[in-house]
Amino acid sequence: MATKTETPKYKIKRGDTVLVVRGNDKGVEGRVLYVYPKKERVVVERVNVRKKHQRRAPGANTQTGIIQFEAPIHISNVMVVCPSCGEATRVGIRRDEELGRIRVCKKCGEDID
Ligand SMILES: [Zn+2]
Repeated sequence: MATKTETPKYKIKRGDTVLVVRGNDKGVEGRVLYVYPKKERVVVERVNVRKKHQRRAPGANTQTGIIQFEAPIHISNVMVVCPSCGEATRVGIRRDEELGRIRVCKKCGEDID
């Protein structure tokens, strides 16, 4: 891969634990299930849960009844929770010769990746 100097705009990855800092689910922590960088949205476990009524589709073997699912929220509404200090934090980047770009907690300075 060519070396570029671009910085990824978002420092949230699938599997991170994040804290919701805005909106109806403010204060809720959950794991990131999906990241949609182009849409600037993330889906977080148990956050922004919606219900929909699923009717039986002809011939389809789908689940019916009330289905709960997590709707995407804007990426700026969440902060990464540091696995070392447990605080919602801003994320910095350091460079490692072997591993490349490593995310670090701005609060405790520990690596997040
Ligand atoms: Zn930390």
